[in-house]
Amino acid sequence: MAGTGTAHLRTEHEGDVILSVHNLVVEYATASGKVHAVSDVSLDIRRGETLGLVGESGCGKSTLAKAVMQLPPPTSGEVIIDGRDLTAISGRELRTARQPVQMIFQDPISSLNPLRKVRHIVAEGLEVAGGRTRAERTSMVDEMLSVVGLDPAAAGDRRPHEFSGGQCQRISIARAMVVNPELVICDEPVSALDVSVQAQILNLLEDMKERYGLTMLFIAHDLAVIKNISDRVVVMYLGKICEVADPDQMYATPLHPYTAALLSAVPEPDPEIPPAELALSGDLPSPHDPPSGCRFRTRCPRAEALCAEREPEIRELRPQHFVACHFPSTI
Ligand code: SF4
Repeated sequence: MAGTGTAHLRTEHEGDVILSVHNLVVEYATASGKVHAVSDVSLDIRRGETLGLVGESGCGKSTLAKAVMQLPPPTSGEVIIDGRDLTAISGRELRTARQPVQMIFQDPISSLNPLRKVRHIVAEGLEVAGGRTRAERTSMVDEMLSVVGLDPAAAGDRRPHEFSGGQCQRISIARAMVVNPELVICDEPVSALDVSVQAQILNLLEDMKERYGLTMLFIAHDLAVIKNISDRVVVMYLGKICEVADPDQMYATPLHPYTAALLSAVPEPDPEIPPAELALSGDLPSPHDPPSGCRFRTRCPRAEALCAEREPEIRELRPQHFVACHFPSTI
């Protein structure tokens, strides 16, 4: 892949879209040149769904998530939440407009202020929002700590270093949820945790989604995790979207050679998934100087001359199954 186009976006008749990202570009200068981290990416999320965003480390998925939050703002493109373009506003107006969106980060320990007590960390968003008394904030914090499985009396006055990684991620989830968000962006929320703890945190996130009617953008490099939690999956490669589909369909019959390669690397493949046609070899090319045409062509066994000349456009090859490839695996 490495495709362009917007065929995968929903029309106005296809449900209540809570987040729309249009033609998002994130580029920044480094000592060794300009980095093309996210290149003309468009996606949308319908209210109540979990959109899984998957790809190798360095493919731009976390950069995209931060650009949605304007942390920092993207180089160009639009990020529309509840009808407002976050890229067109700043300051207090921006902070208010993005309040319905909260983030949960990869490293739960370093994402929490080590100097503050847990109850103050969880209360931060409520203090910024204002409009509640101290007693109301305390009550909401205690309730949310209980919901995420922590005893407020025992945990509230301790600091993050006194907790395990899994407990710190529970605190992060409480901090995000206490302000009653509509959309939660989970940026690799379990990849720094032990496998047994990963399952607990994933279950907790599913519970929170159910209990509060959340919408989620769930980012991971682990396809097994993404499959279990997502209603729809977007595969990214080197700053571009390759494939978009329902997880069952994508994992059973991937259309893009990159998706097929990623699936071949899943340690315990689903027996329903046919043998992958290739194993992914080589490193991700440098985002300083991405390949011409299809960005995957330097690692793709199907690449032909056209792949270097022309960027593939995203097409719907099966109902609600979109791919950006000149020569997809199966039609
Ligand atoms: S066949 Fe061509 S367009 Fe498709 S993924 Fe391979 S290099 Fe890209």
